[in-house]
Amino acid sequence: MILTGGDLPMDIASAEQPRSAMLWKLFKKVLADEVPSSMPIHHAIGNHDIWGRDKDACNATGKEPFFGKRWFLDEFGYSRTYYSYDMAGWHFIVLDSFDLDQSGPEYTSRIVGEQLAWLKADLRAMAPTTPIVLLTHVPIISAANFFDRKTETDSDITVLRTRMHVDYRELDALFVKHRNVKLCLSGHLHLLDRVEYNGLTHICDGAVCGDKWKGPRQQTPEGYGLIDLYADGSFSHQYVSYGWHARRGV
Ligand SMILES: [Zn+2]
Repeated sequence: MILTGGDLPMDIASAEQPRSAMLWKLFKKVLADEVPSSMPIHHAIGNHDIWGRDKDACNATGKEPFFGKRWFLDEFGYSRTYYSYDMAGWHFIVLDSFDLDQSGPEYTSRIVGEQLAWLKADLRAMAPTTPIVLLTHVPIISAANFFDRKTETDSDITVLRTRMHVDYRELDALFVKHRNVKLCLSGHLHLLDRVEYNGLTHICDGAVCGDKWKGPRQQTPEGYGLIDLYADGSFSHQYVSYGWHARRGV
């Protein structure tokens, strides 16, 4: 099974409709050409998958039927940007990190409103013995953020609301009530890290494109996480750098 961490094409959030359509088509062609049809794929939504987030760059009015998160849903036939499913004795929860600003292209990374109520109900509905993997695009907790070039360091350290979930305390408190949540996966930073906190493992799993196809991003090469999940709720993880090299100057 493939779980993608979002930011699938680059970039729907600030490209006009024709280019966005071409990018979705290209992304889906790569998947169709390279991934066996029997392989389940589940996508999380990324900030670059939200059409018209930058309205000016997209030349969007906001009235288009595919505006915002809608286009992502339509591409994959999803009814919501957050969902869960079961496979091989594990439960998988895919969340939508994006509480969009109404007045501009930015967002706050957090789970709110209907999605939060749904998440609580979904966790409650699971047997406490069923191990859970949870996927967000933006990391809930991340150590790599302290090395991210968008983190400001003055006498204080400022992690942007677009780079890590601002509701990490609330989510941690929720997961403490559901100790069967074993693993939180994320992407977004293109950096690899692993944080063990309060009995839960958070892994930010690098990026297939590295630093947007320009080579490694800081210390993290192009790659993906390969995860084995076991019946007893344990797991193993390795980061696979698959040997792609950027062609400089092309
Ligand atoms: Zn992202």
